[in-house]
Parts: sequence; C-alpha cells; structure tokens
Amino acid sequence: MTNQTGQCLCGSMKYEITGDPIMSAACHCTHCQKTTGTAYSLNIGVPSDQFNITGDTLTTYVDKGESGENLRRCFCNQCGSPLYTEADSMPGMTIVKAGTLNDTTSFKPSVNIYCDSKMEWLKQDYKTVDFAKMPTE
Ligand SMILES: [Zn+2]
Ligand SMILES: [Zn+2]
Repeated sequence: MTNQTGQCLCGSMKYEITGDPIMSAACHCTHCQKTTGTAYSLNIGVPSDQFNITGDTLTTYVDKGESGENLRRCFCNQCGSPLYTEADSMPGMTIVKAGTLNDTTSFKPSVNIYCDSKMEWLKQDYKTVDFAKMPTE
C-alpha cells in the first residue's frame, strides 16, 4: 500500500491519497480537452474515503457527462489547475487528475477512453488499450 500526495500549481490545494488506486485512464473526451487545454486528461480512480484534500481555493464546475448525469469538476480558483472530478455515475469514486501528483514517475494509464475524439496525431504512435467511449462491463 502506497500513499501519494499532490497539489495544484500554486500549492493552495493539497491532497493525499491513501492506498492504491482502483484504475488509471487517459480520457480523450472533448470536455477533458477543454478543461486541461491539452490532448487528454490523465486520471486515477480512488475510493472517495481514501482521498483527502485541504485548502480553501477549491471551486466546482458542474458538468454533464455523456450519460446525462452530473459530474463535478473541481479546480483551484487561484491557479486554475484541475484537481479531481466526482461523477454521479460513479458514486464513491474520486477521479484525480494524475498530472497534479507530486511524483508522477510511476504513473501510467492502463486504458484510453473516449478515443472517438482522440487527436489524429496521437493515433499513430500511442498504442494502448483503447475504448471508443467508456469500457463496457
Ligand atoms: Zn492553485
Ligand atoms: Zn474526459
């Protein structure tokens, strides 16, 4: 069992994850492209009771997922770093933006989701387990 820590760019918001993440994924959906300003977001899923965040500059943007259910995108209102997301479709789970981890050396996404909107240049040299949208169970 490993603990991980992370923070936003300005350091106002800090978090700790206790225990091992349940999943890791790169998300290529258009909403993640917008919120990150890049090609995709990097995410680790942890049980919400294993995620502890402190600081007073957190703002929540309520977004809608493809399922039509709400998801809350939480970011630092000082520096704009996206920190984590909670989705009504995934109760009890916190989706942490892996780029905000203090140590990213061991992070690797195990799957790619929403590859329907993956940028063309990534399709050529980025071979992983790809799903058009969400993995089907
Ligand atoms: Zn910040
Ligand atoms: Zn996404």
